[in-house]
Amino acid sequence: MSVLHFACTECGKCCSEAPEMSLIEAMRLGDVFIPAIAYRLTRLPKEDNDAGIASIKLNADFEGTDPRDFLKSVRDSIAVRAGTAITGEHGWDSFVFVSARAWHYKRIGCPALKGKLCTVHDRRPSTCRTVPARYDVPESLLVRSFHGMVTRGKTMPNPYECDTSESAPAFFREDVLVDDAYVKDRAAATEAAMGERELAAKILTSPLLPPPQETVQRLRKSGPFTISFHAAVVHARELGKIDTPAALSFCDSQMALIEREVAAALLRKRRDERDWTSRFRTLQAAYQSLKKSLLSNVDQLAAP
Ligand code: SF4
Repeated sequence: MSVLHFACTECGKCCSEAPEMSLIEAMRLGDVFIPAIAYRLTRLPKEDNDAGIASIKLNADFEGTDPRDFLKSVRDSIAVRAGTAITGEHGWDSFVFVSARAWHYKRIGCPALKGKLCTVHDRRPSTCRTVPARYDVPESLLVRSFHGMVTRGKTMPNPYECDTSESAPAFFREDVLVDDAYVKDRAAATEAAMGERELAAKILTSPLLPPPQETVQRLRKSGPFTISFHAAVVHARELGKIDTPAALSFCDSQMALIEREVAAALLRKRRDERDWTSRFRTLQAAYQSLKKSLLSNVDQLAAP
């Protein structure tokens, strides 16, 4: 029987960047991260688009996979299932996936990582909980993605310390994920992402953000990008995904966090951080104004 073993040794080496999160997770972690809305476009050739299928470039982890099988797997991914379908391009299906990603001054590393330790371990986002069996990788591609990440990580100059010896718990048996904790975390994360579809669609067409055509054009031209998060809070409250006290508390924690980050940056006096400082100041003003509007309407606003 083919068995792959794995245990995380919490070496912190895969925390090389701030994690992607669901929108609601980002709102719960407002005291830790300064989130931005992150847009990602997934374009898939339709089944009869042979030229489109032939043009697909598989990354190294998936080399050798039949492109049609690969595409079938990607159609089952969260980026597609929880994404908003965009029509209008002959021979292709396109989906915009909306999530959150942290903005920060540090060039490398997650801001929640101190030395080897995740300072928010018990509250860490789903992407972190499910590495190296990430919930946004479809089941059928998990083993290849696991090999790609863990094998690559263990051969890097500063290698990952994942335990893949036979003394570690069984992780995959016959290509099926069997680690109960990971199975549960993947299921919970998938359910949460699917539960945010309506919010993501609302953000895509939000009057507070660039129009969807512009967003899609930019995604096609330059790939994934991020944009200010405050509209996500407004629409999450409108849809009852968070209540008014939670929206206010998020504004407060963001303003306090930005204040601390900016104060530390001013002490560092780095020229290359000035853009970030002014971006964060603008964001802080947006949260101030959002808080004011929430408070002034608090009597009329039925707490969702
Ligand atoms: S939140 Fe924790 S586990 Fe996730 S990337 Fe940051 S330090 Fe690593």
